Amino acid sequence: MKITRVQSRPIRIPLKRFFYNSKDAGTKCEWDGKLSRVTPKRPSPILEYVLVEIETDEGVTGIGEAPADIGFFGQFLESIGHAIDDYLGPLLVGREPFDIPALMERINFRENSCAKSGIDMALHDLVGKVHNVSVCEMLGGRKRERIPVAVEIAGGSPDDMADECLKYMKMNVRAFKPKIGSYPDKDAQRLRAIREAVGPDVSIRADANRGYTVEEAIELCHLAEKYHVNLELLEQPVDPCDLPGMARVCRETNIPIEADESCFGPGDAAAVVREKAADVLNIKLGKAGGFLNAMRIDALAHAAGLDCVIGTAFGLGLGIAGKLHLASAMERFTGAVEFTELGLHGPLLKGRWDKDLALPLDEDGCLPVPTGPGLGVELDHDQVEHVTVHGIT
Ligand SMILES: [Mg+2]
Repeated sequence: MKITRVQSRPIRIPLKRFFYNSKDAGTKCEWDGKLSRVTPKRPSPILEYVLVEIETDEGVTGIGEAPADIGFFGQFLESIGHAIDDYLGPLLVGREPFDIPALMERINFRENSCAKSGIDMALHDLVGKVHNVSVCEMLGGRKRERIPVAVEIAGGSPDDMADECLKYMKMNVRAFKPKIGSYPDKDAQRLRAIREAVGPDVSIRADANRGYTVEEAIELCHLAEKYHVNLELLEQPVDPCDLPGMARVCRETNIPIEADESCFGPGDAAAVVREKAADVLNIKLGKAGGFLNAMRIDALAHAAGLDCVIGTAFGLGLGIAGKLHLASAMERFTGAVEFTELGLHGPLLKGRWDKDLALPLDEDGCLPVPTGPGLGVELDHDQVEHVTVHGIT
């Protein structure tokens, strides 16, 4: 069996609102502009993805998905499409698809982690279909059948953020990650309002999106303890390059500190471990460059005694299924897996999975790990065609 074609398809989904929005006068970081990914080319609220299709001479096709987001990944729709169609994909054409590590090594140039993650996902889907095994079984085993779900809560006033959590709780969501990272005292009030609204049994972790100084991060942690927020962890409190600063926050607080922007691929993860810069590593397929590197980070964390979180990068149904397979196969991860996309758009899948991988969650706040070969899900072509971008300029 030989790979005959590697082809990208750009996807754009309009949203009703910017996700990371806040008009709160107390915010020092401009959430509205900085994190809503507003540029002259993308002035409206959207999410973008790139699908990757890998065809073979025996008629079996694998499909994967990459996130496109200049704001977080520094990689965007046009760059990911070009990387796949013009540079990385052609290096795989004519090759057998089965030795995925060797194929990924062939395209292991610097950067382009999102494009690589889409290719890696499509290769796993393809080989899983050929061998009639699920992706989680290829990654190390189906260790879990259902995965607990968390969603992010956009920054805003304490009451608005608490109300948003209550809205999701009606759909069985039992874990939240509010976006903070403005002023510690204001953020602590946000977290306190959320805890008071959701009660003691719901998980709250917070993402500062690198918004604090070291001193502010330590202050936020102390305030969260003072207000009995019972914060599960604090994500990326300071600048991603400031590993000594992250290490100091870890040393001087009791709340577990998580590295997100500080931890893209396995090399970053190794640096975080060496510097003792986090208690928890955040894994996203788009950052890591696919399942293979995600499992390498998992192994590294396991060996170093750290935990992992599987973070959100939004996603269509392939991305959701991919994270569920990863979560099923990993040695261990902390708490719930983040699926903020569930509240923003549908998974665009065929058949039962279009409802099964969507809100509301089951009564335990979980999503099921898809069964069947490869990713175990298929995109609904009519829905996908509707959001395909034709003629990118
Ligand atoms: Mg984050």
